[in-house]
Amino acid sequence: MSVEALFSLSGSTALVTGASRGIGRAVACGLAAAGADLILAGRAASHEDTAAAITALGRRCTVIDIDLADPARVRSVAARVARDETVDVVINNAGIITRDDVLDVDAGDWARVLDVNLTSLFFLSQQLAAPMAARGRGKIVNVASLLSFQGGVRVTPYTVTKHAVAGLTRAMANELAPRGVQVNAIAPGYIATDNTEALRADPDRHRAITERIPAGRWGSPDDLVGAAVFLAGPASDYVNGHVLVVDGGWLAR
Ligand code: NAP
Repeated sequence: MSVEALFSLSGSTALVTGASRGIGRAVACGLAAAGADLILAGRAASHEDTAAAITALGRRCTVIDIDLADPARVRSVAARVARDETVDVVINNAGIITRDDVLDVDAGDWARVLDVNLTSLFFLSQQLAAPMAARGRGKIVNVASLLSFQGGVRVTPYTVTKHAVAGLTRAMANELAPRGVQVNAIAPGYIATDNTEALRADPDRHRAITERIPAGRWGSPDDLVGAAVFLAGPASDYVNGHVLVVDGGWLAR
């Protein structure tokens, strides 16, 4: 296979969650540029711009209106998609974060963060992995975090979900590798998106974080595209259960 073919997604369909903005939008557009048609899963109203950008790249794009805070509905919608469409790649990107002292975390926030970041991610993957396993090929890429490895400060529910996403990636990879499905994750470092706005709005925190990043800068959503194309395409066919850190060196320090 040529090097170009190793990184081509031509002829495949990728489903990306949370592609309205931030990392999900950059990754969805990157997969389209690599040749994939897209299914965007999230709140439909916020996806118009991304869908237009993908169509402008000459790729097919459909939007599935879904609230990831409702895992039971996610499971049933994913089952329908698995029946009606051939999905070759799933990028579980959507995620939310709450910031509270550990002693103040309330039950509602705890449940919501777990539902969006973990439970919906699992049931969406489970439903779409079944036809992939039957076909003997497919790619699932979860978006993890530095907080899959570290504890973080004032983000307890988020850290819990991102540690779990790393474990789930390995657990699913072990069972699905023999069936031709690669399950991996990307762990972004500090990326300038709405998710990290509160950190950048605090000048001391912003400076301290920037100074600790060996690359000397925050990442941009486009910094995740290469890792996503790699894990979505044939180049990663022998990569299973890996959490690929894209962090400007933060964890190496
Ligand atoms: P972002 O800019 O805040 O975007 C979050 C995305 O998730 C949006 O598309 C949002 O859709 C969607 N979403 C949130 N709740 C949803 C729900 N209930 N139903 C459907 N969609 C929902 O975040 P980001 O920074 O790009 O983060 C993307 C992923 O990377 C997340 O999993 C995050 O944890 C992870 N990550 C980010 C960083 C970072 O530094 N930014 C670092 C490590 C990991 P709407 O526009 O409709 O709200």
